[in-house]
Order: sequence, then C-alpha cells, then structure tokens
Amino acid sequence: PSPQDPPYLRGLNEPQREAVLTSEGPVLVLAGAGTGKTAALTARLAHLLYTRKAWPSEILSVTFTNKAAREMRERVGRLVGDAVEGMPWLGTFHAIGAKMLRRHAELVGLQSNFTILDTDDQLRLMKQLIVAANLDEKRFPARQLAGVIDSWKNKGMTPADVDAGESERFANGRGGELYQQYQDRLKAVNACDFGDLLLHVLTILRTHRDVLEQYQQRFRYIMVDEYQDTNSVQYLWLRLLAQERKNICCVGDDDQSIYSWRGAQVENILRFERDFPGAKVIRLEQNYRSTPHILGAAGGVIANNSGRLGKQLWTELDAGEKVRVIGVWDGPEEARRVGEEMEACRRSGKSYDEMAILVRAQHQTREFEDRFIAIGLPYRIVGGQRFYERMEIRDAIAYLRVVNQPADDLAFERIVNVPKRGLGDKAVSTVHRYARATGSPLMTAAARILDTDELTGAARKSLGRLVGDIARWRDMARDLPHPELARQLLDESGYTAMWQAEKSAEAAGRLENLNELVRAMEEYDSLGAFLEHVSLVMDNEGSAQEPQVTIMTIHAAKGLEFDTVFLAGWEEGLFPSQRSLDEGGLASLEEERRLAYVAITRARRLAVILHAANRRIYGQWTSSLPSRFVGELPAEHIDAETTMAGGESLWRANWSERADPFADVNRGTGRGPGWQRAASSGSTFTRDAPRVIESRASAVSLGNKGRSDVSLGLRV
Ligand code: ATP
Ligand code: MG
Repeated sequence: PSPQDPPYLRGLNEPQREAVLTSEGPVLVLAGAGTGKTAALTARLAHLLYTRKAWPSEILSVTFTNKAAREMRERVGRLVGDAVEGMPWLGTFHAIGAKMLRRHAELVGLQSNFTILDTDDQLRLMKQLIVAANLDEKRFPARQLAGVIDSWKNKGMTPADVDAGESERFANGRGGELYQQYQDRLKAVNACDFGDLLLHVLTILRTHRDVLEQYQQRFRYIMVDEYQDTNSVQYLWLRLLAQERKNICCVGDDDQSIYSWRGAQVENILRFERDFPGAKVIRLEQNYRSTPHILGAAGGVIANNSGRLGKQLWTELDAGEKVRVIGVWDGPEEARRVGEEMEACRRSGKSYDEMAILVRAQHQTREFEDRFIAIGLPYRIVGGQRFYERMEIRDAIAYLRVVNQPADDLAFERIVNVPKRGLGDKAVSTVHRYARATGSPLMTAAARILDTDELTGAARKSLGRLVGDIARWRDMARDLPHPELARQLLDESGYTAMWQAEKSAEAAGRLENLNELVRAMEEYDSLGAFLEHVSLVMDNEGSAQEPQVTIMTIHAAKGLEFDTVFLAGWEEGLFPSQRSLDEGGLASLEEERRLAYVAITRARRLAVILHAANRRIYGQWTSSLPSRFVGELPAEHIDAETTMAGGESLWRANWSERADPFADVNRGTGRGPGWQRAASSGSTFTRDAPRVIESRASAVSLGNKGRSDVSLGLRV
C-alpha cells in the first residue's frame, strides 16, 4: 500500500489487491465468509473503469440479487464517480438474460416486446396443457410440471435434450412432450418464463456464431459474485461468453452453497479450473466481519461436512463475546426472550437496524411478529411477506371471518370460489345483483337465491353446498375450541387439499403456514379475540424511517451482515429441517449444515442461538431435541444457558461427545489424531482453538479436521 494508491485500493490486503489488479486472464477467488470477496469484486470493477481498461458497457458483472447490484453500483459510483454511469450489464443473471434476449428475440421465434410470465400465468398455461393432454390434473398437478420443466431449464436442457428417462419425471413419460407443447404455446403468445431468460440466450449463443462473437468481443471483463450458487445453464452461458478473452473473475465459497434445490452446482468451482486452464486461484484468509468466537463456532460446525475444499480464516478483531446458546421452554418464550435481548441491546446504544433474526423456515416469523407487535418493537420482514399478509393466511382468515360474522362481504368474496368450486364470475355477479336488490349481505343473498331459479346447474349445487357448510361451521363454532374449528374448516372446505395436491416445495411451505396459523389461534380465548388481533396486526405498518430489526430466512441473508444476529429454532426437525432428514440423505444434511455456517457468519459482534424444548403442533405439545448443529459448536466458543433444569446436560449428552471426536484433545486431556497431525506436519493447523499468532491476531482454523489432502488440485 502506498499513499499514491487510487482510493479503491486503500485498505485492501495483499490477496485482495491481487484479485483487483489481476485484470487479465481467469481468476477464481475462493474464500470463506466475510473475507472481503464482494468488497474485492467491487474494487476490481472500480479499477477497470478508473484505469480505462474498459468502458462501463464492456463489463459484464453478475450479482445474486438486484439489491446487491444496486449496492455495487452505488459503491463503485462513490469510488470512481461519473464513470459508473450506465453499467448496463451489471445485474442478476435473469436481468442480464432478459436484456440480451430482447435484442435477439427473433432468433428464437419471439418478438422483442415479449412478455415475461409470472408464476400464476405460467401455471394456468400448464394446467390447460395438462387438461388438453387428457391427464388427471389432480394426479399430475401443474406445479409439479412447473418444477420439472424448471429443473430442465436450470440444466440448460431444451425439449430436444429431454430423453425418455428424464421424461419419466412427469405423467409416466409424458414430461418431454408437455415441455415441448409448453414452449410452443409460449412462443405463440410471444412470452417466456424466467428459466427461458437464460435458456433462450444460451440457445442463441450456441447456434449463432456471429452473435456469440459480438458478445465475446464486447465483454472485455466478466465478474461473478456468489459463484458457488450458479447452476448449469448459468455456468454454460458464462463459459461461452468468456471463452475468447478469458478475463473472467469469479468469487465464491463452497461452504456457502445453499441453492442446490434450485439446481446450483458447487462442482462449477472445480469445473472452472478445468475449463480455464492456468486460472489464478486466490484465497483470502483474513476475515474482517466477525469476532474469533463467531468464526470458531461457525468453523466447528462446518468442519463436520465432508469433501470441503478447506480453508483457513483468521481475524484481527478482539475475541469479543462468545456465541450465546439459549435453551428456552417453548416458542412463545423464544420470541419473548429475543425481544428482551433486542431491547437490552438497544438500551446499550445499538440501533435496531443492526439486529436481525434469521430463521430456517418462513412460518417461524409468526411468533416473533406477534410478540413484537405486542411490545411495539419495530420490525421488517425481508425477502418475504409478513405472516398475516400471505395468501394462504388471508384465505384461511377470510373463512374464519365468514363464520364469525355473516355480513362480512369482503371475506365471502375472497373464498366463494377458493378452492375452485365452479362459482365463476357469472354466478358471483348474480349473487351480487340479488344482494343489491334486496339490500342484504352476500351470504344472506346467497342463501336466499337458492330459493329462486336465478342460478341453475352446477353453480346452484355448489353454492348450496357452500352455504350449508358455512351454516354448519357456525354451529360447530359454538362447542368446538376455535383452533379445532379452524382445522376442520380448512379440511372440509377443500382448502388444505388444494395445497396438498400441488406437491411443490412452495405448497409445503403454505401448509406449514396454515399449521402455524392454527397454532397461533391457541393463544387467544375466542375466535373473535383472535380475529381482532389479526386486524390490529394488519394495521401495524410502522414507518420505514425508524430503525427496525430485520426478520428473514437464512437463504435471504446470504452476503449480508449485522452486528447482532439471533438464530432461532435450532432443533432437530426444524433445523436441520424434517424434509432434509426424511428424504435427502447425507447431501441434504450437509446443505443444512452450510446454511448453519452462512447463518452464524452473518454476525459481526454477537451471535445468539436459540432452541426450544417444546413446540406446539395442533394443540399438542411435542418435545424437541436441540439441533445436532448446537452440539457441533465447539465448547470454547460458546456460553450456554438454559431456562430449564437439566436442559444443558440434555443436549450435551445427546450430541456433544458424538459430534466431537476430538473433544478430549481440545480439553487437553489426551492426544488424538487431530493433535498428532498438527504436531507432526508442523503446520499451523489446529482444530478449533483460537491461537495467537501475532500480538492481537488470532487464527481460527476452518479446516477440515486435518483433511489437508482435500485441496482438490486447487493451486494458490
Ligand atoms: P460473504 O461470503 O458473506 O459474501 P464476503 O467475502 O463477500 O462475505 P464482504 O461482504 O466483502 O465479504 O466483506 C465483509 C466485511 O469486511 C464488510 O463489512 C467489508 O466492508 C469488510 N472488509 C472487506 N475487506 C476489508 C479490508 N481490506 N479492510 C477492512 N474491512 C474490509
Ligand atoms: Mg459477499
């Protein structure tokens, strides 16, 4: 570093500078969380512009979210000023794909003003095709087809690439045929879906040399953040574009690969070196984000994964507070406790903006939202909707409102044809007309209209059933506890079945939310009291100006950082998720563990992990075991407390000894393999104890339990 350094180089460490200044040739930056990968990429962009190596329009720069693109644009703007004006090719894969496709739409049979379908349109179209193909839409739901087609697109497969084996994945071998029909339909209506934004462009680049060459010339430099989460189609696309000039710089962390369910392939990291021989691989080892205790805790967990590329991390930051592990009795106590801790942080001078709660599953936000509304703690939900604003929750509540209050026309309108029961616009407007004419609420009008001959056939039958159902539910409401009423109502109305039929991950999430809603009702004395609570919640918008704590999923938190992070619900079956335990085998358990690593490493100063001993499901208390990941946290980096007698010994007994084969070594009572390896090889490898290597610096190994042989041929 010298005083003449341009502003974007100031403060960068040596390997970061190398990543910034090695502008020519392939570069792969492979480094752990918080080591300044994104910071280096931003500086690299500034460098290319500042030194006039390229015009803004000659750099292709891929970020994971639009928000990340915006931030990068702002930061580069601050560093180099006006030069950043118009960075047309800075954005997500999808945004950049859309832009390219508009320019060359005719090459895949579209016009440049094509529509990008949203999920609803997409599903409606697929449903039509399924029906037209004489398939039972209940057995072969559109959402399932959507998932299969999406996974083909993520792999870069056009209908022509789908062989018989692949085709089996939908409707006994008809998947390929429906894929082809779907693509034909899209073309006919001049539309494409999200997957096409990349797939069509890949097709164009593969089949039109002139177009490919034009882009290979244009993009002097290519940069990719969060590279570990690229999928095949994205990879193939990048490889084509970079093949000519080979000035491509990718940054990523194999331990943070958390999107394999969307087709991401961490193997792309290994492919990179094969496809770009002589690539310079740069490792960043200094972490600027987190304290040694946070790094040690995260490292202890991820060390349990196999097949890692393995890396060292160290930090100059003070040890700070140990990671806190808090065992509580149940969900409400978890929410209460986090609220208290946040308010205490606030009193000690921290801003709510610097605190976050990260959850594994969307439905976990509800308990926190209810609590924070009750105590007036401002919060925002990022990357998702507030619990009570989600579609399935609004639907369910509309049903409850109709039962509670027959004159609630808005609620009645919402559910009259959800799930679909053959009450189309025409039938509904007949009811409306009748209601206006007789000056009565819709429900009353609907009941009375059955005595007339205004409605006929299926619509009449269907409306009769709905009116009868609602009357029956209203009767039931007198005797039945209201959560039980809700559950029966959701079943009998066909609402639950509607989502069950879909068999998609999204539908599974909605079903979980519905369960969570029933659980929430148990906390109120009556249906009326609960509905009142909901209306108050909906009204509680909070101003965007005041500092707010953030509640989000771990997936949405990728790349972000907060001073204080609360990690809720670390219990077996919740995190790791039941799904990963039931279906996925080792691979999906390891993906859950990478999620745990991402979660802990979002924290700058303090991470607090919570687990509850009991969760309430359908009014039944179910006791839960602390997550195995809790047991994998190295003892020297955590402070555990529990509000229950015997709680700590419980999880220690359950996981600790099993998860930590070197436990005796760490406590200095024996000589295990880890110790021997470190001593005999003379390397600085240590399992997890922070070790002082300079006056104030401590090194925390995030290595792979001594598996230094897992370098997988990556040269540094
Ligand atoms: P992740 O893997 O979570 O995406 P990352 O490797 O991209 O992390 P950054 O977000 O770029 O890491 O940086 C983490 C923090 O460290 C940021 O607050 C950043 O400003 C800071 N930082 C990065 N490089 C340096 C440096 N050389 N000196 C001081 N602070 C730095
Ligand atoms: Mg980053």
